Amino acid sequence: MKKRDYYEVLGVSKSAPEAEIKKAYRRLARKLHPDVNPGDKGAQKKFQEVQEAYDVLKDEEKRRAYDRFGHAGPGASFDPSAAAGGFPGGGQGFGGGSPFESYSFESGDFGDIFGDLFGRARRAQTGPLQGEDAAGTIEVPFRDAVLGGTASLSLRRERECPKCGGTGRVGKNPCPECGGTGSIVDVESVRIRIPEGTEDGARIRVPGKGARGVRGGGAGDLYVTVRVTPHPYFERNGDDIAGVVPITVKEAYTGAEIEVPTIHGVVQAKIPPGTQGRQRFRLRGKGAKNPRTGQTGDHIYTVRVMIPKMQTPAGLDASTLLDSLYDAPVRKDLPKGL
Ligand SMILES: [Zn+2]
Repeated sequence: MKKRDYYEVLGVSKSAPEAEIKKAYRRLARKLHPDVNPGDKGAQKKFQEVQEAYDVLKDEEKRRAYDRFGHAGPGASFDPSAAAGGFPGGGQGFGGGSPFESYSFESGDFGDIFGDLFGRARRAQTGPLQGEDAAGTIEVPFRDAVLGGTASLSLRRERECPKCGGTGRVGKNPCPECGGTGSIVDVESVRIRIPEGTEDGARIRVPGKGARGVRGGGAGDLYVTVRVTPHPYFERNGDDIAGVVPITVKEAYTGAEIEVPTIHGVVQAKIPPGTQGRQRFRLRGKGAKNPRTGQTGDHIYTVRVMIPKMQTPAGLDASTLLDSLYDAPVRKDLPKGL
């Protein structure tokens, strides 16, 4: 098979500057890397071809020779078999940030992947560069969000293998350091503080846990968006917490002291005589704390009058008696229709 032109392989023009060649190489390497295409022989072959082309074109001297002599010579430098492993410097082309560098995290506490994020170090030719900020989402239980707590994240940060420079090989052999993948994965467990009163959709900044910096630059920050798991009983509306409290007919009629569950525990509360079904009551300061203002909201509970289902003669008498006590027909204010 005829060897393809190196410029053609990288999809650049003969006059392309070094930066453009590097860029084209990174793009192709990312696409064709064996790690991304496991078992794909075609991709592997193309990857090698790209690698070989880049090994030559990134080197000023080799490029000049190639421009002059093409694949044919001079000497064995551009013999395909030699070129595959013939340049000890091959693979150092990833100036700083690796094309394989990616970043993700999953929640450690729950076993499921709640978040998935990618950030890449900014590319440049020289000098230290700060890593990019990264963003992700985490699921937080209602209790931890309202009362404050911690969440555990497992950060997975991929970086270029320092031994093979991201090429996945040393000479003709797969790199022993990274097993030929060209990248190394670091797993780091991070605990983040969930402030008391954290609302659904809130963002928490975790300094220094974004993408890695390049050439000595600091890491970016990680911004975690909080998704609060709904609670089966309590419902949050701003800083107020709502719940429904069932009461008996007698409690509604005579008034009563009842136990009302709040996020801060059970509170004894009084309902007045003649309490109506679906009437709402407010317990001041028993809601959620607003993390910005420091103010605490209220607990608002709605009573639900429970009617006994058991039918007995005594129950019938009691309900008949109750019926005689309304001062007006209960539906007198209803409209007749539209
Ligand atoms: Zn390696």
